Amino acid sequence: MKKIVNIIGAGLAGSEAAYQLAKRNIHVNLYEVKGIKRNPVQTVDTFGELVCSNTLRSTDPANAVGTLKVEMQKFDSLILKAAYSAQLPAGGSLAVDRDLFSKFIDNEIRNNKLINVISEEVGDIDPMEITIIASGPLTTPKLQLGIQKIVGSDYFYFFDAVAPIVKLDSLDMGKLYWKNRYDKGETKDYLNAPMTKEEYLKFYNELLNSEKADLHLKDEESLRVFEGCMPVEVMASRGEKTLLHGPLKPVGLYRSKEDHHDLFAVVQLRQDNAAKDLFNLVGFQTNLKWGEQKRVFSLIPGLENAEFVRYGVMHKNNFINSPTLLNKSMQLKSNPNVFFAGQITGVEGYVESTASGIIAAINVARKIEEKELIEWPETTVMGGLVNYICTTSSENFQPMKANWSIVNTDGMNKKMKKVLKKEQYSIKAIKDVEEFINKYKI
Ligand SMILES: Cc1cc2nc3c(=O)[nH]c(=O)nc-3n(C[C@H](O)[C@H](O)[C@H](O)COP(=O)(O)OP(=O)(O)OC[C@H]3O[C@@H](n4cnc5c(N)ncnc54)[C@H](O)[C@@H]3O)c2cc1C
Repeated sequence: MKKIVNIIGAGLAGSEAAYQLAKRNIHVNLYEVKGIKRNPVQTVDTFGELVCSNTLRSTDPANAVGTLKVEMQKFDSLILKAAYSAQLPAGGSLAVDRDLFSKFIDNEIRNNKLINVISEEVGDIDPMEITIIASGPLTTPKLQLGIQKIVGSDYFYFFDAVAPIVKLDSLDMGKLYWKNRYDKGETKDYLNAPMTKEEYLKFYNELLNSEKADLHLKDEESLRVFEGCMPVEVMASRGEKTLLHGPLKPVGLYRSKEDHHDLFAVVQLRQDNAAKDLFNLVGFQTNLKWGEQKRVFSLIPGLENAEFVRYGVMHKNNFINSPTLLNKSMQLKSNPNVFFAGQITGVEGYVESTASGIIAAINVARKIEEKELIEWPETTVMGGLVNYICTTSSENFQPMKANWSIVNTDGMNKKMKKVLKKEQYSIKAIKDVEEFINKYKI
């Protein structure tokens, strides 16, 4: 009998999972709600939408997220193919034209004969059907209830924000300059807005005193933010110098020796589309009211008359209690037909969400082929992420990005230099993924 897998959500994890299953000759019903109603951060109907930053971060294998990409390429990741096809210059980062990226994914999915796209808001999960839930951090309330019914527990949450995008031709190019931090990369990809101490302090004080948008928190809720993607105003509230060690740090951006004395802070802008007419403010995710964003961010030199094509917004992200609910095959412990993938599992980030889609799909394929389910080696970044979300203490469970501390590096020479050590971790992770693929004939 032909087995069909239901996938809920055609975001990064869901699209990747659908592609991986179809590659293995498995039929998929892919449910997606955005064609009927979009959530507040969605702006297009195409699949695999990047809702905030347009970068999939570092490509350097010494960085765990760089190695994660190499691992995912071994599984022929659709999302990475889309990213490299829509790549924009951005030093050592994999930045993309978000529209071209999403269109590539949409096209691959909609033209795949084994994938049946269903435009629908899913509510209840049928426990008898094989399903991957990849509905993301902004899972609709109706499906949140459906998930609660099947997992029998509440969600965790945190707040996450989006950074604004401005038009290049509205910027004062006499005040900005092109440079990548430490001159990484062959071209100069980032626009930099330099600030003197006086300019910084004025901006900082206005930011502190700005009006924030009301998040309509329930009584029992507090404004929990994710440390790795903190709103710029929350970061500022931690002290006058915090931004200078974060998104406004000037190091590696000096134009000349004199700059060392005058340059106090630098705001970076990154190309957001292939036409090179839109730029996002790097690290400026925010919950300021829109009028306040215009007022305060226009204090940045060069942005006095900036035209904002998108303002920052903040949203509540939901994730399940994976340490108690999931096993390392991304399967629900209490129902072997149900798998989870993406940010809803507590992995954090575009690349990490996609990676979990690969893991869930390969295990679903094995279930259908009546093979044993498999766990990725903990010495790989993919395995480290799954190990973290499934085994960390459930009380302190917080979303996790790729980093070397979650990868098992026991037995590796601890006396090595930091950089060399990371290169060794990377070599081992990639070798172990290759062996894993051979062992299980994936
Ligand atoms: C505001 C915000 C900003 C973020 N910024 C970044 C960033 O800059 N960099 C980064 O690396 N990560 C960022 N993230 C985190 C995360 O990487 C992204 O959310 C990523 O898109 C997660 O991938 P996903 O596949 O899990 O979910 P998504 O890409 O969100 O896909 C889930 C899909 O499920 C659909 N869906 C939801 N409910 C239903 C339903 N009931 N029925 C059918 N379909 C449904 C949605 O419409 C959506 O298309 C951000 C998250 C948020 C919320």
